[in-house]
Amino acid sequence: MNQDLQKLIELEKVDREATRLTEEVAALPKRVAAIEEKLAEHKAAVEKAKAGLKANEAGRRQLEADIKGFQEKIAKYRSQSSSVKTNDEYRALMHEVEFAEKQISGCEDKILELMIGLENEEKSLKTAEAQLKVEAVDVEKEKSEARVRTAEDEKLLVGLNEKRGQLRAGVNDSTMAHYDRLMRQRKFAIAEAREQKCLACFVMIRPQTWEEIRTNEQMITCNSCGRIFYYDPTHEAPPPPEPPKKKSRARAAEAEAAPEPAAEITPTQ
Ligand SMILES: [Zn+2]
Repeated sequence: MNQDLQKLIELEKVDREATRLTEEVAALPKRVAAIEEKLAEHKAAVEKAKAGLKANEAGRRQLEADIKGFQEKIAKYRSQSSSVKTNDEYRALMHEVEFAEKQISGCEDKILELMIGLENEEKSLKTAEAQLKVEAVDVEKEKSEARVRTAEDEKLLVGLNEKRGQLRAGVNDSTMAHYDRLMRQRKFAIAEAREQKCLACFVMIRPQTWEEIRTNEQMITCNSCGRIFYYDPTHEAPPPPEPPKKKSRARAAEAEAAPEPAAEITPTQ
């Protein structure tokens, strides 16, 4: 085989693998960022549950302080009651005591409500914390996997770039320029010629050119798509008269894809 052709075939494989790895390296931080966003949602849920608990606690403390205030008032009224002169004064004080007792009872009801609410709030905090924990483990795992994969990819890329340099070094400039243009514009530069067709664009190849391609000794490009041809004799169809013994995988796939020939129907009168 033509040496340049052989190098270009190898180079194309290297280039495509390098592109794949580069894309993978670029995609990994995005994947981690997406997971971290999910983690932030769980963190927010935990914060919300914690804030709810804090508000509950503050509410209860306030009510307890209110109760204490009312109790002090009651004690004061009771001590005053021993020194009052008239029944009216006494009744007025007792009325105040009664009012303060009602207030205390109201505060106690509210505390009870908060205590009942507290149970639910504690439950939702526990749930949110448990979810956060699970999610955090996942994120760490994904992150470390991404780090390992990135390091591996980068190492492979260094190797591929070295190989790339070696392969390119031996090929002449105009061939290299043609190859680069094809890679840029058409994603791949090399095409197999099979059964007198370009397997990239499926255009038929002239018989004389076909014979030249089959030698693999020249750089021949497709008239239609510009890709550089190579020929693989192992992909050639078996000679038609012999019954097919072993089909290659590609041939088998082609045969499967082709519709069954319709059976000939003889019209009857
Ligand atoms: Zn072509």
